[in-house]
Amino acid sequence: MLENLAKIKEQFSKELNAVNSKDELEKIRVAFLGKKGLVTEELKNLRNLSADEKKTAGMQVNKLKQEIEQAIIDHQKILEEREYQKEIENAEVYDYSIPSEKPVGTLHPITIVQKQIEDIFKTMGFIIEDGLEIQTEYNNFEAVNIPKNHPARDMQDTYYLENGQILKTHTSAAQNTIMRKYGAPNSGETLKVLFPGRCFRNENIDASHENTFFQLEGMMIGEDISISNLIYFMKVLLTEVFERDVKVRLRPGFFPFVEPGFELDINCAICGGSGCPTCKQSGWLELLPCGMIHPNVLRMGGIDPDKYTGFAFGLGLTRLAMMKYNIKDIRLFNSGNLKQLKQFVR
Ligand SMILES: [Zn+2]
Repeated sequence: MLENLAKIKEQFSKELNAVNSKDELEKIRVAFLGKKGLVTEELKNLRNLSADEKKTAGMQVNKLKQEIEQAIIDHQKILEEREYQKEIENAEVYDYSIPSEKPVGTLHPITIVQKQIEDIFKTMGFIIEDGLEIQTEYNNFEAVNIPKNHPARDMQDTYYLENGQILKTHTSAAQNTIMRKYGAPNSGETLKVLFPGRCFRNENIDASHENTFFQLEGMMIGEDISISNLIYFMKVLLTEVFERDVKVRLRPGFFPFVEPGFELDINCAICGGSGCPTCKQSGWLELLPCGMIHPNVLRMGGIDPDKYTGFAFGLGLTRLAMMKYNIKDIRLFNSGNLKQLKQFVR
């Protein structure tokens, strides 16, 4: 019998070496360990032996059985590893650095102008903030010195939500949150923040009015901020955006959140200042409201107006994009007309 076991072992080793698939492996398992398998037969033969022989032979048969079981498990792992390697070799190879041949998305003209302005202000140390589009009445109005019953709060112009909140009507709605987030600057330092955003007003839509438009607002707060700081930053901004040397002038203007408040005009690019129909013969184009932040607004933002001053300016981003790209109809921006919108990509 021991001789038999040695033969079985040899036969098994030989056959196992030739196995290249899981199916073949299963066949071998059945041939040796199955109900009528060679090892199983040997186990059955044990009953024909004497008690002494049975003991020795039994141990040998069981040892062989375990060896074969283990060898099958090991071989299965080898087969799986081979299969995995084959899959890797046959997999398609992608080079992710190759540019796509299909057209990729393009930036919206308003996004292009916004990014350009953000880049300019970032180099001057401004933080970019992203205000919420759904705001409380307090943030949108009270906190920027527009009290209840003020004409600027006309229900006609504002989208009120059922829960009493509103869609922000101007980027100034973020001022209070930003002041509270950063607080007053350290002595000798300034707080400089730029906050672009989408605004909503209940307008009848035509070529120059939209209910959804973009503004971009900036403010600078410190111990010693004056109107000359404001003029400097506005000149840098407009020169970069319009890619020409821009002259600016300030005219007094009333806005509840600034004191004093100004309308900032730039010299007309079309006539160079000599007067034309676009500038109504004045040589100047009205561009943005700005001014020194009202003491009430600073106070409500938790900043002491006796110690700190600041300027703020609000830019109609949509309007600026229209001027920069000479777009005559504001409806283009929200139209989804890709053919039209793509021409501004660069
Ligand atoms: Zn002009």
